[in-house]
Amino acid sequence: MTGSRAWNFSAGPAALPLPVLESVRADLLDYHGLGLSVLEMSHRSDAFAAIAARAERDLRQLLDVPDDYAVLFVQGGATLQFTMTVLNLAGEHGTVAIADTGLWSGKAFAAAERLTPTVRACSLARDANARIVIPHPRTWHVPADAAYLHVCDNETVDGIALGEQTLGGIETHFPGVPIVADLSSSLLSRPIDVSRYAVIYAGAQKNIGPAGLTLVIASPDAIARSRQAADLPNVLSYAAMHDAGSMLNTPPTFAWYVAGLVFRWLLGNGGLQEMGVRNAAQAERVYAAIDALDGFENVVGSAHRSMMNVPFSLRDAGATTAFLAAAEASGLVGLKGHKSVGGCRASLYNALPDEAVTALLALMSSHADGTLDA
Ligand SMILES: *Cc1c(COP(=O)(O)O)cnc(C)c1O
Repeated sequence: MTGSRAWNFSAGPAALPLPVLESVRADLLDYHGLGLSVLEMSHRSDAFAAIAARAERDLRQLLDVPDDYAVLFVQGGATLQFTMTVLNLAGEHGTVAIADTGLWSGKAFAAAERLTPTVRACSLARDANARIVIPHPRTWHVPADAAYLHVCDNETVDGIALGEQTLGGIETHFPGVPIVADLSSSLLSRPIDVSRYAVIYAGAQKNIGPAGLTLVIASPDAIARSRQAADLPNVLSYAAMHDAGSMLNTPPTFAWYVAGLVFRWLLGNGGLQEMGVRNAAQAERVYAAIDALDGFENVVGSAHRSMMNVPFSLRDAGATTAFLAAAEASGLVGLKGHKSVGGCRASLYNALPDEAVTALLALMSSHADGTLDA
């Protein structure tokens, strides 16, 4: 811990960089001499327009977003995007394919199925060692006329990452099918090629900023398709939101501002290249500990282990409560697994310092047989 701050392994809302919080605190009552807080500022004011524009510019730079892609700052969480993607992109009863790779993909499937014909492109499988794997795309079922294929880049609950091999396989086997991707827990964790996707969306509260903000990055074709969905209420329309500069109605101003500070922090700390290296190294350390220590287990196959969310269980499941209590007592919080799977989960977002991982490994080795070199 540093001062009174805990090591925060929460899956979301999650840790924010300390310099960002300090900047928020310094400017909270009087933003840049204006005599008011960003919390109290009109979204139509020059000051907020500058905050919003800077945030978008910095995000575009971080992700190298193609100029003709739209960047939207919206509300409703990733959960609303499960529905908005269908409403904007599927056309009249167009078929949507969804890769079912975990809890959040399952929710995307259930939301799509209510609105349009929906096909399960794949389901999770087990390899010969009973480890969870995503089958190779050559075995997937994606109709040639599918409006799009929806994937979840990182399954936050299950700790399953799609991985480059799967994404590349999709492009090889289903060329021309637009890819829509939920990157809620992985956007900004590493460099990505935005141009491979028709739409990317992410709830901010995992790795981007505070809850209440959702990022949508949409290709020109996706915006054009949205424009054809003429009956769509405008707050649900990508095209209408784009035309209004994400200010069709009052946007989540404070969350937008804090996300902008996070973008600046990332740019000042080596950008996504550096984050990718740090995140991979942290994940590597945690998985190595789980694999080395007798008391702990993670059942995801190595090709699909998430770099952001590491679920693990204690082989003696009865000891989980005591482990989590010991963690809290040592200032490690947010390690309880999602209610649907139980056990433990360590989320390793950008803002988590290496010292937090060191503290976690020390705690784990004191609760297990076997020892760690690290
Ligand atoms: C958290 C999460 C969601 C849901 O986000 P909300 O903002 O709560 O709607 C969806 N998908 C993934 C991958 C997530 O991690």
